[in-house]
Amino acid sequence: MATSATASSSTMLTLPTDAIRQIQWRFADRYDLQMLVQSARGVARGTVAQMVAAGERNSHEWTPAKSEMLEAFDRAGITAAFMEPDEGGFISGPKNLALALAAFELAWVDGGAATASLAGFLALAPIHERGTPEQSRHYKALSAPPQPGETRKPWRGAFVLTEPIPYVGVDTGMLSGKARIAEWRNGEEPWLQVEKRGRFITNIAFANFVTAAVASDDERMKGSCVVILEDTDEGTFDHGTPTKKLVHQLSSTGDPIFNLKVPASRIVGGYTVREGVLVPNFNHGEVIEAVFRRTRVTVGLMTAAKLLSAVEPVIRYQRGRFRGAEGARPGTVRYEQGIQQREDALHRLVDIWATGEAAASLGFAAARIFDDLDPIEKQKNAILAKSGIFDGRAEIKALRESRKLAIELLNMQGGDQRRAEIEADPLVQFVLKDAEANVLCPATKLWNTGVGANMMREAVSLMGGYGITEDCPGFLASKWMDAQLEATYEGPEAVQRRQLTVTMTSEVFLAELRTWTGEMRRIAATRPGTGACTLASAMRMWLWTLEHLHKATDAFGSKLYHGQRQGVTFPLADALCWLLAARYQILDVLELERQGALDPSVADSLAGTVQFFSDLCHVQSARAAGEVSRICAELVFGYNEHPSWSDPACSTCCFSSDELDELEETMPGIAAMAVDVIQPNGSHPAKAGPCAGCAGASDFLQLQNKLCSCLSGSRLAKDRAAETVSKIMIPEALDYPA
Ligand SMILES: Cc1cc2nc3c(=O)[nH]c(=O)nc-3n(C[C@H](O)[C@H](O)[C@H](O)COP(=O)(O)OP(=O)(O)OC[C@H]3O[C@@H](n4cnc5c(N)ncnc54)[C@H](O)[C@@H]3O)c2cc1C
Repeated sequence: MATSATASSSTMLTLPTDAIRQIQWRFADRYDLQMLVQSARGVARGTVAQMVAAGERNSHEWTPAKSEMLEAFDRAGITAAFMEPDEGGFISGPKNLALALAAFELAWVDGGAATASLAGFLALAPIHERGTPEQSRHYKALSAPPQPGETRKPWRGAFVLTEPIPYVGVDTGMLSGKARIAEWRNGEEPWLQVEKRGRFITNIAFANFVTAAVASDDERMKGSCVVILEDTDEGTFDHGTPTKKLVHQLSSTGDPIFNLKVPASRIVGGYTVREGVLVPNFNHGEVIEAVFRRTRVTVGLMTAAKLLSAVEPVIRYQRGRFRGAEGARPGTVRYEQGIQQREDALHRLVDIWATGEAAASLGFAAARIFDDLDPIEKQKNAILAKSGIFDGRAEIKALRESRKLAIELLNMQGGDQRRAEIEADPLVQFVLKDAEANVLCPATKLWNTGVGANMMREAVSLMGGYGITEDCPGFLASKWMDAQLEATYEGPEAVQRRQLTVTMTSEVFLAELRTWTGEMRRIAATRPGTGACTLASAMRMWLWTLEHLHKATDAFGSKLYHGQRQGVTFPLADALCWLLAARYQILDVLELERQGALDPSVADSLAGTVQFFSDLCHVQSARAAGEVSRICAELVFGYNEHPSWSDPACSTCCFSSDELDELEETMPGIAAMAVDVIQPNGSHPAKAGPCAGCAGASDFLQLQNKLCSCLSGSRLAKDRAAETVSKIMIPEALDYPA
């Protein structure tokens, strides 16, 4: 393997410690979160790992051991992490980062275990986000784990949106679940008859309550809503048969049937009565949007955990591969290094590690931004409410001025007097954070799970045959398959891409992205080894391509960038995700460098750690740039018709051989340059047609040219990272059973 002349003597010697992760993912000052991580880890690497090793994943049924796992979550404080201190929890304020960290720890060992804990939060989330204060208090109190000395069993919930085919799946508007007015006595609360069948519903085997999306089937009730159903309500609460899943078997999934009579006070967020019609305060779409907006981030982080959890078992396998064989004696390279003697094995592991870092950085950045956004959103709501603005459309109008100011702020030169004033405006702060969050959430879900699932295949492949056995340390094959569920549920990739195509083209987000291009160049000026400059060039290319596609048409004159043209908009969304993941990865390394110097437990090994993480950034930025370049080139050129030899224009753009002979007399050498030459008998070179030109897109080729040369150094970074991976120390044994 090649080694770099610039390799530092201070290399990273061990796998990243907790202190490093706390700095990178910004919870070094949050003792409550550090405790949560430790207790979630205890359950994951203890109870959960033992269950997986004992074959609990081999059953679709809800078993006593799986039930015991939920109690272990309760005891460890994982269940309570969703609640405020006065609701039985221990973390106050927004909890997106907290829940993300707990899920990350659980998914490090098993995705199903993580899902089992998240599904309970998902059931409560509609009530938390849009429920009335009474609903929120009531259901959280019931779901809170028992306090010491209490014998109460906590309630478990399930979130019921998906229905049997042909109804709700990706398209959440197509509901077959119905609510009718069952009884409405004068002056009393109406009662609803709710009919809903669910498909693939997590937590259903033991759910005491569900939050179900239904549409009105009664002219005395308007629209749709999410309604809370309890297992003791009058009628049928059938938990259904378990789904025969190939994934996440430690969680319960099934197809329930409900036909229940419930008071209208169970409508999430309440209702009003207008002219004799019951009008839910929130339709099901509004509730679901508020929920998924946050919970999808956590799902993305589960796949990130899988990737990073694969590093140690793969290193262990590679190193020990030939030990015990004749000729592989201690001290020999074959004994000590095993497969790690081979460059490809190391490079592929570096790719997996780099992807895992980028996925974790993107996901935790998204979780944090929702924590930041929560109080700002409340402030925004209060300000708008004072002006009598409550609904979405009026809000969009009311925030128009704030959006203008936000863009002005982003474009502002240093020293502008108005900066402090605009920055302090809560509505501007909201608009900026909201635009970023609206992109980061679907990007995390889409990129982490989709690219992550593909990368997990790489991790499995590095373990050879062992990788696809139950004995594989780190349960890698299960994680590979589980990643596909993470890509599917809470809306599969198409849903995330669809959302991105809207949010990534918001003027505020585009202005933010432009400033990030400059930010990456500035970072590159002091930290060229991070690949930040490459990323900046790729960002520019993406922005150029988006602008071009907005104006350009295809060979038949049809517009290229519009909602229905998923062949254009979806790949562009994919490309953006590569850029975002690499950006947050770089920002986390800079944070580590800054804050690590102040932490004595990190400072000693900081130089080597920062070097290694910077190299991973460089590797990832190069990969991201390559993806962006490939996708953008296809979109820019792929919708043009390739010129053909029979085109009338061919006579003007191709040379005839006679013409060339003449030109050769005045311009010697021209004949050697000409590629599309028609012979007197009409024959031409054997290819698709005259080479395509680049009319209207020559700027793109310049950007692409530049991007190619920006890749300089990225493979040297990969060599350096590989060298570190070949030397890094790992513990004697995996920290949970195989
Ligand atoms: C183990 C498990 C647990 C689950 N838990 C829950 C739960 O707790 N609660 C719940 O409500 N649901 C749950 N689900 C359901 C899950 O959210 C859905 O399966 C998922 O949203 C996809 O819906 P679908 O299966 O109907 O796929 P489909 O809608 O049939 O999609 C199939 C494919 O077509 C593509 N596609 C569909 N529509 C479009 C479009 N407009 N444009 C482009 N491509 C499109 C999709 O991207 C996908 O690739 C769970 C599913 C599983 C497997």
